[in-house]
Amino acid sequence: MKTIQLRRLFKGLAIATTTILTSLLILALPALTGMTPATSAQDEGDNSPAEVASRDTYFPGTEELAPDEMRIIACGTGMPNARPRQAAACFLVELGNGDKFIFDIGLGSAERIAALQIPYDRLDKLFLGHLHADHIGDLDALWIGGVTSNRQAPLRIWGPSGAEEKTGTKYMTDRMREMYTWDWDSRVGNVNTDGFEMQVTEFDYKAVNAVIFQENGVTIRTLPAIHAVDGPVSFILEWNDLKFAFSSDTYPNKWWLEYTKGVDFAIHECFAPPSIMVNKQNFAVGDALNVATQVHTSPAMFGKVMSITKPRHAVGYHVFNDFDTQPQILAEIRQTYDGPVDLAIDYMVWNVTKDEIRTRMAVIDEAVWPQPSIYPPKSADPSQRIGFSDYIFEGRVVFTDVVKFYYDQTNEMFGTNFEPPK
Ligand SMILES: [Zn+2]
Ligand SMILES: [Zn+2]
Repeated sequence: MKTIQLRRLFKGLAIATTTILTSLLILALPALTGMTPATSAQDEGDNSPAEVASRDTYFPGTEELAPDEMRIIACGTGMPNARPRQAAACFLVELGNGDKFIFDIGLGSAERIAALQIPYDRLDKLFLGHLHADHIGDLDALWIGGVTSNRQAPLRIWGPSGAEEKTGTKYMTDRMREMYTWDWDSRVGNVNTDGFEMQVTEFDYKAVNAVIFQENGVTIRTLPAIHAVDGPVSFILEWNDLKFAFSSDTYPNKWWLEYTKGVDFAIHECFAPPSIMVNKQNFAVGDALNVATQVHTSPAMFGKVMSITKPRHAVGYHVFNDFDTQPQILAEIRQTYDGPVDLAIDYMVWNVTKDEIRTRMAVIDEAVWPQPSIYPPKSADPSQRIGFSDYIFEGRVVFTDVVKFYYDQTNEMFGTNFEPPK
């Protein structure tokens, strides 16, 4: 025990010493090298070395949108396979009127959303293109994680019906709510659960160019998509004379070709082609051909769609976009399309106005904390707590003095007067 404590002490001292030495070195460096500190250059009115003409970098939370500007952030661009570099399908659309919309919420995308440091009350509108795990896999993380990250607004979800009741969005969200029965019971009375409410709007997956959302100058329409079985849809968002289209997953289809012609910004799946599905994903050849060219839209098919619809800017997603796959995918797109295109990667950011479309990458802080609610804080109602059975409750070992220390410390820090429960 003693040895460990001594080691810790020495380790602590060593770190402290290194820190002090490093600080001294930084302070002494200009004198040692004859460099002039940056501040004196600023004082003389010269350009500060910290300033650059233009950065292709977006730092979340630092740029307000112009009233006529749209910002789109890729929060998931990959495949159904979990991967640190790319989450599955998810795009955030932010508008100059303050509205924000999430399109799909695939596996792993919730942490990308979190990295943008937006209050969750503003992330309350979610549109689901279809119910594959790579498009809804982080719905629970947005729903429950949103509550624990201070969302007090209900989560509003729009999603398609299915060929049967059991393949529709409402069936899925009802079962998800049931799946989290224990989670719900555990939180009631311990945290404010207003944000737990889900308001689900299920619309007809066969509807063509039908309005499913119209608020605050924003109209969202739905188109049937063709993917795997009946049910999938694509979306078109219109606001302020700008048109944004999101395919979710679809095989090339007549509705997309007709209704997304000339949109300002089109995000369409551009799936891994058969050769990559075999060589990198280890699919059987027949399955690769079927999945890549019959269930999905492969790069040359994506290019063909874009050359017919001619958006101002095209974005392909739904592929592992690496140093070795990107050249092949772009070459295949270029067989059929010569317009503006980005092959999306997570944290790619686009600013869209009538005059310009700019592509950048977001640089995020990995150590983010939740933002406060935009509404006044609301506490839990302790009378709703479900609590424990006597058997479990009586197993508690109560460290009275230690708990009292925390109550005293917290009351002093925040000017409150809470008493530990008896
Ligand atoms: Zn799918
Ligand atoms: Zn998909």
